[in-house]
Amino acid sequence: MTVFFVGAGPGDPGLMTVRALELIARADVILYDRLIPDGALDGARADAVLVDVGKVGGGAQVPQAATDELLLEHARAGREVVRLKGGDPFVFGRGGEEARLLRAEGLDVEVVPGVTAGVAAPAYAGIPVTQRGMAAAVAFVTGHEDPAKDESQVDWPALAAFPGTLVFYMGVRRLGRIASQLVAAGRATSEPVAVVERGTLPDQRTVAGTLADIAVRAADAGVRAPAVTVVGPVAALHEQLAWFAGGPLAGHSVVVTRARAQASALVARLRGLGARVVEAPAIRVEPLPAELPDVRGFDLLCVTSPNGARRLLELARDARALAGPAIAAIGPGTAQALRAGGIAADLVPPRAVAESLVEALAERPVRRALVARAEQARDVLPDALRARGADVEILPLYRTVAEPLAEQALQAAREADYVTFTSASSVRFFLDAAGDPPGGARLVSIGPITSAALRERGLEPHVEAGEHTPDGLLAALVADAAQRA
Ligand code: SAH
Repeated sequence: MTVFFVGAGPGDPGLMTVRALELIARADVILYDRLIPDGALDGARADAVLVDVGKVGGGAQVPQAATDELLLEHARAGREVVRLKGGDPFVFGRGGEEARLLRAEGLDVEVVPGVTAGVAAPAYAGIPVTQRGMAAAVAFVTGHEDPAKDESQVDWPALAAFPGTLVFYMGVRRLGRIASQLVAAGRATSEPVAVVERGTLPDQRTVAGTLADIAVRAADAGVRAPAVTVVGPVAALHEQLAWFAGGPLAGHSVVVTRARAQASALVARLRGLGARVVEAPAIRVEPLPAELPDVRGFDLLCVTSPNGARRLLELARDARALAGPAIAAIGPGTAQALRAGGIAADLVPPRAVAESLVEALAERPVRRALVARAEQARDVLPDALRARGADVEILPLYRTVAEPLAEQALQAAREADYVTFTSASSVRFFLDAAGDPPGGARLVSIGPITSAALRERGLEPHVEAGEHTPDGLLAALVADAAQRA
């Protein structure tokens, strides 16, 4: 069976080749890396096996030996395997090594080239790597991401003497060394340099300078991987030819204070809009030991948050254990979390606040209600139900606790353009950790309760979402950024 080494391009989904999409749609098995475009696998078969070999559970890289093992196993089993890699499969990133291994084992390989970051990121930054009269050649060079790795592979005097543009992959953290080695080997300190971070993506950024100052400029801007570094006169063309505007939040840095476990969707959406995201999770959700009472004794079950919904489903084990009472969910996110467990809420009030549920329940007689929620929550709902004569039992399912924030995250938060708050507790814990006003950032609140928590601390939210959901928050943020542009 043939293993296809397929390039997925540098990040913009539009830069995937027709052949890549065709093979993804056909494959039995797709082994993919971290740096592949959003939605690259959308066209895969529903029954295809998709394996992320870029990382294990959000952490370290899958060891190469394990990837090799998987490739061999699936190929030998006669499955059609796509080995999907960022950029071009044979430009850095070990595609060639994997192909040799398969060949040595008597397996066939086919290669589908991809748009490589070393050409695409500069192009999106307005840098033609071989401008006539400026550069007659271009060299792709590895900068090594790991400072502990041996550098001897790179012949600095030869590189410094190279008659053309140098494009370094990896090595953002070693920018200072790269620049000083080139200068020591004879390149002029005035040589133009451009670092293109997250090229072709909505949050692409370019930092330009010279060999003398690029390391400091990139560090000041907080440039991180993935980025390519272009050295040579063509780098200066960025000034004249930059064209790519990115998403509506391009150029804005946005802090997400939400608990890490829940932040990923919001973070991804913000990046998709072009924002530079600073993750500063000030809270963590801690499940409480709890036992589910017999819900058949209740005529109403209120679930007040997505966290509550997930914990409730966990306790119930089986959706049938929640059968009996009418189920009310505050907020579309809560309703969606219930739906994921096979439960369609009977009632979702128009606004995602307890007050709205109280209004929505006005006409409904309630005898006994079970309110499944956080330990420290407002009593608006139980109070209102009790005032109407209902017997109310509270089921505390989780508590939010402070998550220590790294000094680096706090510093980035102080310099950010926006800080987002998706709950009153994220406000309190974040401000406790940050020591009050988070610099000059505009404060974005998901709704009135979160805004009230800001005001309690003497801070006025600059933006409040009209719809009290993460989507509503994003819409309000984009509108604010557009208005101020
Ligand atoms: N095969 C890939 C390169 C893999 S090595 C290709 O052909 O593009 C990974 C390095 O590629 C990163 O450290 C970074 O230097 C570069 N890279 C990948 N995607 C990038 C992007 N969107 N913008 C800038 N550099 C990128």
